[in-house]
Amino acid sequence: MTAARPAAAPAHNVSDLPTIPVGSPLLLLGRGADADAERGVICAGDLPAPDDPTLVDRARRAKEILGDRVMILGHHYQRNQVIEFADARGDSFELSRQASIAEAPYIVFCGVHFMAESASILGREDQTVILPDLAAGCSMADMAEGHQVVDAWARLERAGVAAQTIPLTYMNSTAAIKSFCGERGGAICTSSNAAAAMRWAFDQARTAPGGDTDGGKVLFLPDQHLGRNTAVLGLGLELDDCVVYDPWQPDGGLTDRQIRDARVILWKGHCSVHARFQPAMIDRIRAERPEVEVLVHPECRHEVVLQADRVGSTGQIIRWVEEAPAGATIAIATELNLVKRLGQEHPDKEVVFLDDTVCFCATMNRIDLPHLVWVLEALIDGEVVNEVKVDTDTRRWARVALERMLALPGDDRSLVAAHASA
Ligand code: SF4
Repeated sequence: MTAARPAAAPAHNVSDLPTIPVGSPLLLLGRGADADAERGVICAGDLPAPDDPTLVDRARRAKEILGDRVMILGHHYQRNQVIEFADARGDSFELSRQASIAEAPYIVFCGVHFMAESASILGREDQTVILPDLAAGCSMADMAEGHQVVDAWARLERAGVAAQTIPLTYMNSTAAIKSFCGERGGAICTSSNAAAAMRWAFDQARTAPGGDTDGGKVLFLPDQHLGRNTAVLGLGLELDDCVVYDPWQPDGGLTDRQIRDARVILWKGHCSVHARFQPAMIDRIRAERPEVEVLVHPECRHEVVLQADRVGSTGQIIRWVEEAPAGATIAIATELNLVKRLGQEHPDKEVVFLDDTVCFCATMNRIDLPHLVWVLEALIDGEVVNEVKVDTDTRRWARVALERMLALPGDDRSLVAAHASA
């Protein structure tokens, strides 16, 4: 149910939105927190001044000096000031693939903590992965802690369904949870292969020793929205086939009967950026611009996805904008840095942000040019700062889970096709 909204403000044309200047103050996340947590820690580096006019030249020079010794990976949600120095740009699936084939001894990951962890897991043992700001965590990944997932599995065992359940975690989760899934026959997915991964997981649940030939179950972590959208729109399950496990409630807030009857057990997590989008925003833009095409990411709420014209991963949204005819009006529900960049790269189309407030992913935005210059110049001086390294035990099973994911088709159009024909 959508809450009543105040009088609607006009949708933002992304070219009108303010550009965040280099070094803008952002939230100080996780001051003093555990360095292994997705909350991140305060970055205590001796950073260049944010208003240093030579920052761009310093970054160029540092890249030139380091040459093949460093590979910079940039997620699509990164700021322009950072992405322009990326050797490879992509969503988390593509960047995982790049990390798995990178030759450079140093990988500077311009993204968030769980992505750098994945690069550490997939890279060679002798490679070093650097996250320019260790406070760049992910609020969604933070919603599932390793011990909570262990408790949830014990809950499934008590309900008598663990043997017929395959755990599947979204890429946006800690290395410990990826490892948990790998060790229990599960895998990892991204928004570009979630339906293929969920089909794969059901196949495993049916064919595993002690599995359930009638169908099996999937425990989907940690994004309930991606899990629900995938199950219903990608695999054709009913909404009632899904239940939500709340790690903060006794027994996950579910009875044994609810767990036994469910096909998909969704973890109660979400993306704080994508969950902001509401169906009323789509109503408003359609009232203002009847010709608009609405593209949304599957991390959005199910009721938002149902009203959209298309639902797809970051990579798919980029392709749809590229393929749209000149003069098209396109409203997009995903992270704002990407939407702004698409507007700048396609001036012949009108690209608008679906939300009526400016909403970047605060943690993605923590990586800025001062941090990038800082880690690159430190490398030139022979110093590694902000290394992200996954311990050997965790790495072993997390790598198995990631490799299962990489073996799946990377460009999953089934979710889109199912929605288009719905
Ligand atoms: S956009 Fe959402 S899921 Fe992605 S890093 Fe930010 S909080 Fe996490």
